[in-house]
Amino acid sequence: MEATMRAARFYKAGEPLTIEELPIPQIGAGEVLIKVKACGICGTDVHIARDGTIPPAKTPITLGHEIAGEIAEIGEGVEGWNIGDRVLVISSITCGACYACRSGREALCVNAQILGLHVDGGLADYLKISKNCLTKIPEDVPFEQAAIIGDAVATPYHAIITRGNLRLGETVAIFGCGGLGSHAIQIAKLAGASKIIAIDVSNEILERSKMLGADFTINSAKEKTGKRISEITEGKGVDLALEFVGMATTIDRAVKSIRKGGRAVIVGIGPEKIELVSPYIFVYCEDQVLGSFGSNKEEIDRILELIKMKKLDLSRSISQVLKLEQVNEGLERLERKVGNPIRIVIQI
Ligand SMILES: [Zn+2]
Ligand SMILES: [Zn+2]
Repeated sequence: MEATMRAARFYKAGEPLTIEELPIPQIGAGEVLIKVKACGICGTDVHIARDGTIPPAKTPITLGHEIAGEIAEIGEGVEGWNIGDRVLVISSITCGACYACRSGREALCVNAQILGLHVDGGLADYLKISKNCLTKIPEDVPFEQAAIIGDAVATPYHAIITRGNLRLGETVAIFGCGGLGSHAIQIAKLAGASKIIAIDVSNEILERSKMLGADFTINSAKEKTGKRISEITEGKGVDLALEFVGMATTIDRAVKSIRKGGRAVIVGIGPEKIELVSPYIFVYCEDQVLGSFGSNKEEIDRILELIKMKKLDLSRSISQVLKLEQVNEGLERLERKVGNPIRIVIQI
């Protein structure tokens, strides 16, 4: 094995990542070395590398948290895995001991270390990782698709199914139909939503949303969102609203779009304060406003099963595949939303 590897290193927000030669990491007990094959880049990476709104815990750091690859080396005490196994890497290294971990909500682990934020991530030839972060991927799922499941697909799955508790025949409004929202449309359709309403500010994204399964689209920059949702739902409002933008205005619209007793699940992250309706309405309507963060291994397994059975098609989700040397170009395209990418994946 060669002694060094390439890695995309972050030093300072606003400056391009630099591709550096670094020693291949040494693995310890309970760890494996992954030959990275694909690593997705997303809004989180843009916030770290470009606008600096998400500062990493240390610098320099190798970015990348949407990772798939092959096991290249196995550490002491790692059972059940073989060299060459195709795996998806869960981007959060959890402690397994805190209350959240012990109650099956690993995403809320109080000691979590996130790849590409707290520890070196997957925009590199190799990655060292705990065996607890591995999920096997079926032969016929390409690395590029596997890489994006843990974040871009499992996050909306968790929001709709686990937090939102979508039931057959319910109506759904999806605010923000980019990377996460476009998968939310597909999942809501699979789960049997009767009416799926896609809301965005881009006609191009709304056209795509229709192709992915949205029954109605609303351009919130041009139309009165609340009035249109009321018309579509015959004055009732939706059973479930999902918000993937993280802005006060869209969260406000999402909360106001739900019917009496409905649920609004907020996934989008941003610095603005959330203002809710008055307690008259909140209490009288038994509104449920829920946060939703990340996902868990069980949800990822279910998504892999859906892909394997050809019920969920991610072939349209990879907007562009770039090389590691083109990572800055990828971040720029993502930041400027060139071609409204669902996901840009770096092939390594
Ligand atoms: Zn991501
Ligand atoms: Zn924990």
